[in-house]
Amino acid sequence: MVQKTGIGVSPGAVIAEAAVLRHSGLGVEHVTVEDIDSELAVFSSALNSAFSSLDATLVSSEDEKAMLMTLRAMLSDPEYTGLIKDNIKERNYNAAWAVEAATEKYASMLDKMGDGYFSERASDIRDAGYILIEAIAGESISAFHLTKPSILVADYLLPSEFLRLDRKFLRGLCLDGGGKTSHIAILSRSADIPAVFALGDFSIYAENGMTIAMDGKYGTAILDPQKKVLSEYRKRCDAAARAEADLQKGAGLPAETADGFRIRLMCNIEGVEGIDGAISSGAEGIGLFRTEFLALQKAYLDDGDKMFHVYQEAVERMSEYGPITFRTYDIGGDKVLEGMGINEDNPILGWRAVRFCMENKELFRSQLVSILRASAISPSVRIMFPMISGSEELREVLAFLEEVKAECREKGIPFDENMKIGTMIEVPSAAITADILADYVDFMSIGTNDLIQYTIAVDRGNEKISYLYRPLHPAVLRLIKHVVDSAKAKGIQVSMCGEMAGETEYLPILVGMGFDELSMSAHSILEARRRIRLLDKGSCTRFVNHVLSLPDAVSVEAALKEFTEQYGKA
Ligand code: PEP
Ligand code: MG
Repeated sequence: MVQKTGIGVSPGAVIAEAAVLRHSGLGVEHVTVEDIDSELAVFSSALNSAFSSLDATLVSSEDEKAMLMTLRAMLSDPEYTGLIKDNIKERNYNAAWAVEAATEKYASMLDKMGDGYFSERASDIRDAGYILIEAIAGESISAFHLTKPSILVADYLLPSEFLRLDRKFLRGLCLDGGGKTSHIAILSRSADIPAVFALGDFSIYAENGMTIAMDGKYGTAILDPQKKVLSEYRKRCDAAARAEADLQKGAGLPAETADGFRIRLMCNIEGVEGIDGAISSGAEGIGLFRTEFLALQKAYLDDGDKMFHVYQEAVERMSEYGPITFRTYDIGGDKVLEGMGINEDNPILGWRAVRFCMENKELFRSQLVSILRASAISPSVRIMFPMISGSEELREVLAFLEEVKAECREKGIPFDENMKIGTMIEVPSAAITADILADYVDFMSIGTNDLIQYTIAVDRGNEKISYLYRPLHPAVLRLIKHVVDSAKAKGIQVSMCGEMAGETEYLPILVGMGFDELSMSAHSILEARRRIRLLDKGSCTRFVNHVLSLPDAVSVEAALKEFTEQYGKA
């Protein structure tokens, strides 16, 4: 039995078999393949990316330079690459297995030739093999099939990989790394899949088929649990199901404080499959449709019509409940596809969202047209731009939207001339200048996941520094307050759609700040509604004024705990 505690990022207790995915060396899948050509293509593209990654490696000494040259030489060695290709062609090995087997064969042959020069070459060839296997892992997740109900155990997982998993079999997710507001965490919550991250080296101990018991609320994961532990987890699973059923009973009630302050609770979705959850939790609209996740399924990116039909379905199913906010592509950062040309040292500070879209105008135009076409179906459609950093950038994006609208008018494509336009506030420079940005838009929505990351300079996906990721840091709270006050002063609506909105313990602060809307995963809506109904807006406003004078996150957390014990916790 191996028991680990990490960060619970998506609630739910579950017991199921492990399906293990390790991206590097240790977890090479051994699969025999029919389609030799496509496996050879996987290998050849991995070889190309291995060369590119060597080219992109910065060297700081002659030794490092020599090492890179050796690796290049190994990867160019026809004897070695020939062995790999033979393994695919003659033994039907999948590409990663072919590399692993060829590497071991070649390296042990060199090992046998004696010490010194040859054993060094053996270790070089193992390094080269490792690089190739990593490159293949980046592309071959589609070959990683879940074939039965499983908890996926992995060292890490990319959003595009998650999207390619067969989710009907995905019961839970245990990752060695990752943070609570990483995109994988968001996707897990949206898909209602219990998830525990930052489990250290958990994946190393896991083997396919082992039993796992996990609890995404408390952040625990146990491999091969003893009988006693198993029966405790079974009880937890039952209790979680009962609690869920109880919450569900409140789905039809308004989210209104005891003294009559009404908040619109909306849902964040990544695709139309999120709409059922939104409706059943009683969401009053979609506050954030993260459209880029569809785009990561390339078929949609290449076909504007296909994309439009998804938007159309979302609007048709959701518009009777409230607004539907399409956020334009937030491509970049960790949300990339091969071939997008994004390969940066600092992707989170780099070519992302509107920065990427404004240089890929055809792609952007096609999305804007789809959103405009969707707006003709219902006045509930809103558009929102991510990662805006200031008024200049916002003006440029709005000018492009106007250009696309003009083209639609010319072509006779109908759209809603009064479609509401919003900007996300997720970059500190945007938050600080919210009073200026408010002049250009109908609403603002705070993306706390990025706002916190950029304000405190703490990577939202990095578990090593997750202790610094504090939504209640005074700098974050002051920025949020400034945004809300700026919106109110200019008479526009203000919303929050980052994960902070769905962390229901923060509600006294968010209610006190005066948000018009909060948008979160469907799962959090039920609990948020229950808590809001126990709160009193007057007390929350006074509490916020007090909290804003506190010096650090610890003091705010302590004050919030005290406030919650006094009011509003059932
Ligand atoms: C945010 O940054 O808070 C946000 C909602 O956008 P995303 O999580 O998709 O980056
Ligand atoms: Mg964001």
